[in-house]
Amino acid sequence: ATPTALMVGTGRGAQLGILIKGPEVLESTRRVDTVVVDKTGTVTTGTMSLHDVIAADGQDGEQVLRFAGALEDASEHPIARAITRAARDRFTTLPEVEQFTNIAGLGVQGMIDGHAVVIGRAKLLRDWSLHLTTELQRAVDAAESEGKTAVGIGWDGQARGVLVVADTVKPTSREAVAQFRELGLTPIMLTGDNNSAARAIAAQVGIGEVIAEVLPQDKVDVIKRLQAEGKVVAMVGDGVNDAAALAQADLGLAMGTGTDVAIEASDLTLVRGDLRAAADAIRLSRRTLSTIK
Ligand code: ADP
Ligand code: MG
Repeated sequence: ATPTALMVGTGRGAQLGILIKGPEVLESTRRVDTVVVDKTGTVTTGTMSLHDVIAADGQDGEQVLRFAGALEDASEHPIARAITRAARDRFTTLPEVEQFTNIAGLGVQGMIDGHAVVIGRAKLLRDWSLHLTTELQRAVDAAESEGKTAVGIGWDGQARGVLVVADTVKPTSREAVAQFRELGLTPIMLTGDNNSAARAIAAQVGIGEVIAEVLPQDKVDVIKRLQAEGKVVAMVGDGVNDAAALAQADLGLAMGTGTDVAIEASDLTLVRGDLRAAADAIRLSRRTLSTIK
């Protein structure tokens, strides 16, 4: 490939809202056959809102929301932002939290009024020997079957409630997936969220293959495994938890609306956070390279 032709491709990329780290990046996109997409913030807007608070039998829903809002105040996660925003709308003050700890890909924990409180995936609650009641589990299952995310909350040895948050699919994601297929690329969704919520979102945008419940540090291993199967992988993501996988992929594409860490780890940045730009980038690189052959 001649440098001039590649520079032309780079310039055209900028017009399409694609920032390319260096002209050589276009060459590595040519053989891509698989596009792995993160869910939250990539396929969806990433702006969640609280839809429901379900208190366990005999528990006070107000206290569940107050404790959850207080504990999540220290977390940057979209789930946390939704919960704290709702709690602040409802209560003028939230209790103090001590010894806050974030457990990446699982949830958060901390001390409130002498209670050790934990919020997150059912797996995290189980690690704390907190078991969801049948009624809470039913609420979780119902929410997840609709593509919503449900997190549990508990303290003092008991599961106390479930908080349901939901995010919306970006209006452009479905069209982007259709374009991936037209380009002969296989789309796969990769997420830390639970399997049924992930499948429901994937179905809304036309993705059939879903790898869910993957811890942040394990996303990179999923990319390596696909590469070991002979696939040439593009990965699209936005979060801190996607950075290692973006760097490992044959082509890393970051949402411009995402975190700096994700952008730094990537070869391309999709300025507007529109997944269709990922298809544009792959199409552009193929076209650029075929004109210079
Ligand atoms: P994704 O890959 O979709 O961006 P993450 O790896 O960030 O998801 O999170 C995976 C799961 O861990 C979430 O769906 C949620 O169940 C749980 N989780 C992570 N952070 C928090 C938090 N601050 N509060 C509650 N649950 C959380
Ligand atoms: Mg994300």
